[in-house]
Amino acid sequence: MRYLYYGLAVIAVYLFLTMTPLLVLLAGPHIPGRGFWRELSVGLGFAGLSMMGLQFFLTGRFEGLTSPYGIDVVYHFHRAISLIAFIFLLLHPAILLLSAPATIGLLNPLTAPGWITGGTIALCTFALLVLSSLYRLRLGLNYEQWRLFHGYAAVTAVALALWHMIGVNYYLQGHVNRGLWIAIAITWIMALLYVRLIKPLLMRHRPYRIEAVIKERCQSWTLVLRPEGLKGMEFKPGQFAWLTINRSPFSIHEHPFSFSSSAMHPEQLAFTIKELGDFTATIGRLTAGTRVYVDGPHGSFIPDRHTFSGYVFIAGGVGISPIMSILRTFADRHDQRPLLLFYGNKEWSEVTFREELGLLQGRLDLQIVHVLIDPPEDWTGEQGFINADMLGRHLPNNRMACEYFVCGPLSMQQAIKEALEQLGIRPEQIQSESFNFV
Ligand SMILES: Cc1cc2nc3c(=O)[nH]c(=O)nc-3n(C[C@H](O)[C@H](O)[C@H](O)COP(=O)(O)OP(=O)(O)OC[C@H]3O[C@@H](n4cnc5c(N)ncnc54)[C@H](O)[C@@H]3O)c2cc1C
Repeated sequence: MRYLYYGLAVIAVYLFLTMTPLLVLLAGPHIPGRGFWRELSVGLGFAGLSMMGLQFFLTGRFEGLTSPYGIDVVYHFHRAISLIAFIFLLLHPAILLLSAPATIGLLNPLTAPGWITGGTIALCTFALLVLSSLYRLRLGLNYEQWRLFHGYAAVTAVALALWHMIGVNYYLQGHVNRGLWIAIAITWIMALLYVRLIKPLLMRHRPYRIEAVIKERCQSWTLVLRPEGLKGMEFKPGQFAWLTINRSPFSIHEHPFSFSSSAMHPEQLAFTIKELGDFTATIGRLTAGTRVYVDGPHGSFIPDRHTFSGYVFIAGGVGISPIMSILRTFADRHDQRPLLLFYGNKEWSEVTFREELGLLQGRLDLQIVHVLIDPPEDWTGEQGFINADMLGRHLPNNRMACEYFVCGPLSMQQAIKEALEQLGIRPEQIQSESFNFV
């Protein structure tokens, strides 16, 4: 309940910040002789810019902002709201042009004042930002190229849009309006400075070193990290962190990975990483002593938010990582609530952590259902894809009093959520972690 109220309060603050420029505009001195369409166009421009500026907060990984919903939900919101803000910004010149066609001459950069051309370039840059995010993979941009462009283009577009607004100067004469926009711009700059400068500087004083690189099954590796001269990082089981390995903390080359170690041992962090692309393919070659910066903890895939009388975990492949952290933490806490794990893999030889899972059964009230796609001939366990029938065969009688944690490929997550809902499990009982939110 606490999270619900807090989440609603964050939404209220967001709406208030988005709408404030419009409210002040309404309350401020009215400029005579300007028709409805012109005022609407200006209003949409103000609202669109205010929403775009607030994106610096949405993507700044501020724990207070992301904790009620989870960072993946905040990122989805960032994407959806960017589209709405962009439509508002696009309507701003479109309505002006339609209501006063003579203004088309302002699109000519050779004759238009600089701040008008600044607005046009800002709009084009916002368009590129939206298109490159929607079609990143089709455009052949890798994540780092996209991220570099996204960061610089966002700052450029917002700065140009502010210059445009100051240049037009219609509604900025009043002290209240001018003061408000100065305050808004300062908070955006502060958010940016915090994320790009202050946070990396703080991280520089909290380095970690690789203590071990352990080969796991199924092209996976566990990185074990120790803090250099510090206590370590308090985190909750199921959370994740961005790792910057062998680079400066200012680098954009950082990757998110779930903690796989027990939260009861913040002095030794472990991350289990599957070789999937150019960066993860290098993990096995890392050596002890390499410096790592850890930005975290983040995420809300955690069983500690609510109290349930039992837990059901459904993992596919490397999706076992955050669940290992939860199981190891529960074992260290001597938690004796009933736990059920469905663990899907292709083959028996690929089942990461299967020996340790067996040992954990001795320390926990843990039942494990291994599900294989290509089982050996003598396999008597479950096989194929996890579905409603299979879940129904194993779920406990108190299934309505349990919380469900799903982590695996997106297609699997979708199928499992639908299967659980078919079995009467309420959506608020289900937590899922997506390993891909870009
Ligand atoms: C919350 C979260 C937790 C995760 N936990 C784990 C884990 O415990 N173990 C594990 O093996 N993997 C985990 N991942 C996935 C892991 O981050 C990606 O597999 C890895 O970043 C891919 O990098 P690559 O360069 O090797 O692959 P690429 O082939 O370059 O990238 C594959 C895809 O991964 C995504 N990606 C790439 N780089 C980044 C980045 N820097 N930040 C965000 N996404 C990126 C992009 O969508 C990209 O298309 C997690 C991801 C998220 C979002």
